[in-house]
Amino acid sequence: MDDLQLGFDNSYRRLPERFYACLPPTPVAAPRLLALNADLAETLGLDLASLAPVAAELFAGNRLPVDAEPIATAYAGHQFGQFVPQLGDGRAILLGELVGRDGRRRDVQLKGSGRTPFSRHGDGRAALGPVLREFLVSEAMHALGIPTTRALAAVLTGEPVVREEVLPGAVLTRVAASHIRVGTFQYFAARGDVEAVRALADHAIALHYPQLADMPDRYLAFLAAVAERQAYLVARWMHVGFVHGVMNTDNMAVSGETIDYGPCAFMDAYDPATVFSSIDQFGRYAFANQPYIARWNIARLAETLLDLIDPDSDAAIARASEVVDAFPAAFERHWLGGMRAKLGLATAEPEDRVLVAELLAAMHTAGADYTLTFRRLAAVAAGDAETLDAIPAAWIARWRQRLAREPAAPAERAAAMRAVNPAFIPRNHRVEEALAAARTGDLRPFETLLRVLSRPYDDQPEHAAYAAPPPPSDRPYRTFCGT
Ligand code: AMP
Ligand code: MG
Repeated sequence: MDDLQLGFDNSYRRLPERFYACLPPTPVAAPRLLALNADLAETLGLDLASLAPVAAELFAGNRLPVDAEPIATAYAGHQFGQFVPQLGDGRAILLGELVGRDGRRRDVQLKGSGRTPFSRHGDGRAALGPVLREFLVSEAMHALGIPTTRALAAVLTGEPVVREEVLPGAVLTRVAASHIRVGTFQYFAARGDVEAVRALADHAIALHYPQLADMPDRYLAFLAAVAERQAYLVARWMHVGFVHGVMNTDNMAVSGETIDYGPCAFMDAYDPATVFSSIDQFGRYAFANQPYIARWNIARLAETLLDLIDPDSDAAIARASEVVDAFPAAFERHWLGGMRAKLGLATAEPEDRVLVAELLAAMHTAGADYTLTFRRLAAVAAGDAETLDAIPAAWIARWRQRLAREPAAPAERAAAMRAVNPAFIPRNHRVEEALAAARTGDLRPFETLLRVLSRPYDDQPEHAAYAAPPPPSDRPYRTFCGT
């Protein structure tokens, strides 16, 4: 019974003891498997046939593989701009790391697995709704081609969790390139523990940026590399209308993956001021603010690395500032590149920025659906449609003139546009519908939605209803942190 081995190799556990607390997940009353991601299991090199019979117990934390070395990691973070020197995994346990069939190393973490020394006042648990929500949205992001943590399994615990109401408890198995956050660096820097910051940076470089390992200026290069990946990541979010919702520094992974699907949501009607999170009263994490917040977070990472960048603190600040100041241009490059592709432009012209801005302004004025507008522009580009509701004819005419200077044939261009403009995103009303059904024990809407979202760039005419925006409502959609 106790011979289950997954093939873990736990590099984080080999870092100094002050990086984590060692403890197992807390067993739950009655584990029941809700979802198991067969594709991801395969990628991780897990054997599905031998996994399936033990999956409920394994992914509930009731049965520990012999090669797991369970830990809760320490981190700090700026939450809505306020520094909290100790956060840490308050309801998550890292079981270990697997090197997959693709040669990549990934963390396997249970989220909602019970109290830890970092729980503070929390119960260490997660509710069914947020667990299935993270499952759906993170897998949708993966299918969209956006760097993200992934979901391997979801189990019901058979125990209630008390939030505003009593809800069924669940555990999510999250898979990530690593769980090292900007806040992990802050945890040690705030304690003046330069050696720990160095060990963490060396570890993160070895994991995520091995090409920098032998550079004399590797810590500055690391900062620049993290900034580059964040600029790309946030640009990708903006291309698909994703609002992360809680870009605290503890929720920014230095790997460049999207992490922490709490109050996130996709925008329906385009509005740069879109905020979904009920606790984001001042719109700090609004859609259009995301690149500014990312830069701010990178500045916080820079502060933790100063001692490693240059022993002369003025010189360190000057060199780090140069990297932070380069962030907006990097973001703009990734963003504009992606927006050009969304409009079917394979070449670059200086006026493209204005063309994009004018389209967005018209969409904002009209309250046009962000996803469908771009998807339908592909039909216009192909000559299958003449105009688009809500988009001024003058803009379409200017865009056509611009397209005339492009080398691609219309059909080829339309195909390229459909490959970057999704038909399917996790629409909030569809996600809510799936979660409501799951609460009554019916997982079919969840499974159907997951399947539709796994092919976001295919038309899937039989599922056209999943592409539709929500019916008009006078109440804005609100999200809540998964706590
Ligand atoms: P989050 O808002 O999910 O990014 O979490 C922020 C911090 O609160 C992290 O340190 C979490 O581990 C902790 N936390 C969130 N929910 C709980 C919970 N139910 N029990 C214990 N700690 C929690
Ligand atoms: Mg978090």
